[in-house]
Amino acid sequence: MKKKRVVLTFPPDMIDQPITYHLVKEHDLMINILRANITPKEQGRLVVEMIGKKSSLDTGMAYLSGLGVEVQPLAQDIKWHEKKCIHCTACISICPSGALNVDREEMLVTFLKDKCIACELCIPVCPYRAIEIQF
Ligand code: SF4
Ligand code: SF4
Repeated sequence: MKKKRVVLTFPPDMIDQPITYHLVKEHDLMINILRANITPKEQGRLVVEMIGKKSSLDTGMAYLSGLGVEVQPLAQDIKWHEKKCIHCTACISICPSGALNVDREEMLVTFLKDKCIACELCIPVCPYRAIEIQF
């Protein structure tokens, strides 16, 4: 089994389509919706974790591309600027996934991209703009 975390961006005319249903039923994928931002008549965004065989992930991705859904790897979504970070730890308690964490002995903050679910909660918390959304 392989796992992919991706950001799906839907054109306004597609947000009411049962796309995740098709990914599950026709492409044999497990879909965890990590975050959804959908407003009627506007572009929609879903952050999802897709789990399945490599062949299923490949056909699922091809299905999404064929529909005109933009697919971006989640790792490109949130950027932590290590040089701007002063390790104040203000973001640590707000991060629900543990992507931002601190070594309590050294009091050094690190960012683990693989754990980030792009919830954006850390963005307004950081006083030094060390965390940025990249689309
Ligand atoms: S976007 Fe959310 S999950 Fe990712 S680092 Fe920030 S608070 Fe943590
Ligand atoms: S809030 Fe900003 S400056 Fe403080 S530890 Fe987090 S990323 Fe670094």
